[in-house]
Amino acid sequence: MSGYNNILVAIDFSETTGQVIERAMEISSRYDTNLTLMHVVEYSPPMEFAGDLGMTSDWTIDENDLIKGSKKSLQKFAEKYKLSSSPQIVHLGTPKYEITQYAEEGSYDLIIVGSHGRHGLGRLLGSTADGILHHAHCDVLAVRIKE
Ligand code: AMP
Repeated sequence: MSGYNNILVAIDFSETTGQVIERAMEISSRYDTNLTLMHVVEYSPPMEFAGDLGMTSDWTIDENDLIKGSKKSLQKFAEKYKLSSSPQIVHLGTPKYEITQYAEEGSYDLIIVGSHGRHGLGRLLGSTADGILHHAHCDVLAVRIKE
């Protein structure tokens, strides 16, 4: 089997994330490749703002704050695992779409996710993991989370 050259790991900051990143680090060192860390800020406008174009600018400020906060969290997380030199990506949107689209555009050949994080407790695969598996154009490795 040929190796992997470009690995993307999906980080949701849930309590299962440590298991995901440790496995991703093992795999990246086995293939001697770098990891890119990606977090997607899941956010939609409050209902009362939806469709009210006059409120768009307030919502935009909230979005920017959320992205800034997540970038800081990802940076801290990377420092903790001595991955500060790894690319750190934060997008806003629906995780399964953002992650698979980014992976395709960046020619990643492996996406690593947790079998479940925030949305999948008690299920074999969480909804994000399942969505990534369905939409990805490359291999996907779901790290089995031990509860
Ligand atoms: P879930 O399907 O939400 O239970 O999560 C399964 C896995 O999908 C997590 O362990 C992460 O690897 C990934 N994931 C879920 N939500 C996000 C997110 N917002 N940003 C990045 N990765 C995520």
